[in-house]
Amino acid sequence: MKHQGIGTKCVQGGYTPGNGEPRQIPIVQSTTFKYATSEDMGKLFDLEANGYFYTRLQNPTNDAVASKIAEMEGGSAAMLTSSGQAANFFAIFNIAGQGDHIVCSNSIYGGTYNLFAVTMKRMGLDFTFVDPDCSKEELEKAFRENTKAVFGETIANPALTVLDIEKFAQAAHAHGVPLIIDNTFATPVLCRPFEWGADIITHSTTKYMDGHGAAVGGCIVDSGRFDWTRYPEKFPGLTTPDESYHGITYTERFGLEGAYITKATAQLMRDLGAIQAPQNAFYLNLGLESLHVRMPRHSENALAVATFLSKHPKIKSVQYSGLPGDKYYDLAQKYLPNGSCGVVSFEIQGGRQAAEKFMKHLKLAAIETHVADARTCCLHPASSTHRQMTDEELQAAGISADMVRFSCGLEDAKDLIADIEQALEA
Ligand SMILES: *Cc1c(COP(=O)(O)O)cnc(C)c1O
Repeated sequence: MKHQGIGTKCVQGGYTPGNGEPRQIPIVQSTTFKYATSEDMGKLFDLEANGYFYTRLQNPTNDAVASKIAEMEGGSAAMLTSSGQAANFFAIFNIAGQGDHIVCSNSIYGGTYNLFAVTMKRMGLDFTFVDPDCSKEELEKAFRENTKAVFGETIANPALTVLDIEKFAQAAHAHGVPLIIDNTFATPVLCRPFEWGADIITHSTTKYMDGHGAAVGGCIVDSGRFDWTRYPEKFPGLTTPDESYHGITYTERFGLEGAYITKATAQLMRDLGAIQAPQNAFYLNLGLESLHVRMPRHSENALAVATFLSKHPKIKSVQYSGLPGDKYYDLAQKYLPNGSCGVVSFEIQGGRQAAEKFMKHLKLAAIETHVADARTCCLHPASSTHRQMTDEELQAAGISADMVRFSCGLEDAKDLIADIEQALEA
């Protein structure tokens, strides 16, 4: 079973029905679960027994889908969250709090940047944002005594920078902290960051994993390989007793494979409640079943569009790491040999106004605050997702005012190119 390919895991992972049981993952549409005695239930509350008691913490539908994603990434455990935002918040807050510090790539999703630089900063966490292309020495300088994790995106949304995962993993491990990778754009079909040294992976499942614009969701996967017990003073939440569960110690009770996700479920879901609805987990699973078929097509379409744009006189620049000559082409050949996902970004001659006019004339591609959909869509980050950032911050994140983010869907490439061509003419 271990050596199954990614396609088999996409289709069959996480759920194996018994004799006479439903072929499809059942939607357990129940907030609560029945027990014969209070003692039975008490064991669940003490984390002494496995089972379900309240869907704010855990639900069988979610768990089946989460284990499929864990298998796809090659991790030991996973949990679904209500959104990608919740996944990134939990992934960090599970091991860091007030007075702690995180090293983070400055080329990340705008929503994540806000979460880190504004909201989590207000909670007393400090972030140092580094250029993902920085030298090892520069990266080294970003660490502090109280650094608890390093964070980056495999393919950054929307700048499309490709992270040198090994470089970031080595730096994180040299300082005794885990590397957290948001693998939303690549998905485990195109890149599996655990194979390059990452320790924890997050996803906005809203994007390619769902893939049909149907359900907002997130996921956190643990590799089970980061040894929290080597640095007990850094991660007391995992290595010392939790009084809210009668003094259990997560690393002792659940081992390295289970400690991190169990703690996130038992504490963060209990207290903050950002659980994915079982119905949404069901939709997510439908998306996962075809992810390995869709990602190559998204990538082929994007490469065709990027190639067309790179030769068009009205286009100032194109960013797509699958395109020979792109700044990230070599890193993409290493980390993304099977495709660089469906998202292309480009700048149009004529600045912000030209970008807005171009978008207005597109017929197939819809203007949406979304990417990674079966249907092609596009967005002007400077006036939408990234509008909270100053011009300097935008520039640091690799985004210019005339940049268009174009998410190639699963249509025929020739139709997408024809649509772009007529809009550029107009
Ligand atoms: C969309 C996105 C998020 C946030 O996910 P939501 O599901 O919208 O909350 C986080 N990271 C990346 C890379 C994203 O593209």
